[in-house]
Amino acid sequence: MALSPDPAPGSALHTARTQLSDAVGRLGLDDGVHQMLAVPKRELHVSVPLRRDDGTVEVLQGFRVQHSVARGPGKGGLRFSPQVDIDEVRALAMWMTWKCAIVDLPFGGAKGGVTVDPRACSTDELERLTRRYTSEILPIIGPDHDIMAPDMGTDAQTMAWVMDTYSMQRGHSVPSVVTGKPLAIGGSLGRTTATGRGVVHTTGEVLHDLGRSLEGTTVAVQGFGKVGAFASVGFAEAGAIVVAVSDQFGGVTRASGLDVAALQEHVAQTGSVVGFPGGDALSNDELLALDVDVLVPAAVEGALDGAHAAAVRATVVVEAANGPTTAEGDAVLADAGITVVPDVLANAGGVVVSYFEWVQALQAYWWTDAEIEERLSQHMVAAYRSVAERSRLDGVSLRQAALLIAVERVAEAHRLRGLYP
Ligand code: NAD
Repeated sequence: MALSPDPAPGSALHTARTQLSDAVGRLGLDDGVHQMLAVPKRELHVSVPLRRDDGTVEVLQGFRVQHSVARGPGKGGLRFSPQVDIDEVRALAMWMTWKCAIVDLPFGGAKGGVTVDPRACSTDELERLTRRYTSEILPIIGPDHDIMAPDMGTDAQTMAWVMDTYSMQRGHSVPSVVTGKPLAIGGSLGRTTATGRGVVHTTGEVLHDLGRSLEGTTVAVQGFGKVGAFASVGFAEAGAIVVAVSDQFGGVTRASGLDVAALQEHVAQTGSVVGFPGGDALSNDELLALDVDVLVPAAVEGALDGAHAAAVRATVVVEAANGPTTAEGDAVLADAGITVVPDVLANAGGVVVSYFEWVQALQAYWWTDAEIEERLSQHMVAAYRSVAERSRLDGVSLRQAALLIAVERVAEAHRLRGLYP
């Protein structure tokens, strides 16, 4: 099958397509299905003129990609980052399709992005940028079409602006067009912490399979944002020892365990984990090579390329970020006998609670914290168990097993629906 242009080796899209080809080959799917799953169903590339606070106008590039809507509306985050490009968004949209299928949600996969450094924008600029981007992609989003959520560089406030812009155009409030929005306008309890908590649930399950538990297990977390910070909190609550964390500026380590709550306070005040007085400095490269039980990449894709993977000494890698391991890095970890819990399973907690939020908003009936936590745990444990079982039965890695389940489910939806016209 020829798909042009070929993404660069090591890029997120190259990794995603390599994973898909492997699953398609193992499942014996035909070339037509492979082609349909390798390219997005729909993508929109928009120019986003942003009026800066000083009155100048800058035109930014924005994207919304719907990889698949075979199992339900597109679902996926909105990313503001200088690294965003169309191939990255395509890869992230494909991973959303697999993620929703693995946790068996009635969603397809989508992703959006704007190539911008949000840290170099004022709040007013971020609001104007978000509203203009939303109005540019308005024709293809909606509660039954494509539902957005926060991702890198965006947050609950961003989702509130998206929801308001969409609602203004429709003439009435439409809370179910986004998830991850503030509680006061129809958000869900437990959404902010969901991805991090899901990472902790899956880590607990994989440790159980290895005859271990979270209690006393040493963990290093790369990235201390929405995912990494709440995963660190959850690990500490479960009795694990968080020995190192990092962000884009550097890291901090303490062999006896970092005080995660104090670290959160430090980050709230300074914007970085760097300089935290309760630990010693270390670099991101040093963190990835630490002798810990569990390594949690929770920052950016491609962090574990071949060279970085070769330095990993952890027993288990739990991929909290999307696509943190390149195809080459994955092969290196497999050769070293390191168990990898793949992103599409490990970080699915966020989309599970997003699904709960969408359901609650559609019904205008909200659940309690305890209900959310219990249902999240059930979904994550069930998804982990089905992947682990497939891995055992087929003699494949957890990543391959997760992809087999996901691709099989999406291909089955295509088969049942047939090809229009
Ligand atoms: P975030 O912007 O809140 O945090 C990102 C963190 O990574 C920050 O601490 C940042 O400083 C750090 N970082 C950035 N570049 C880095 C680098 N080169 N080296 C080390 N650290 C670096 O983003 P987030 O929402 O926590 O997302 C992190 C990852 O998890 C992304 O891959 C995202 O797609 C994925 N993810 C997020 C969610 C969610 O609910 N937010 C759900 C599923 C997956």
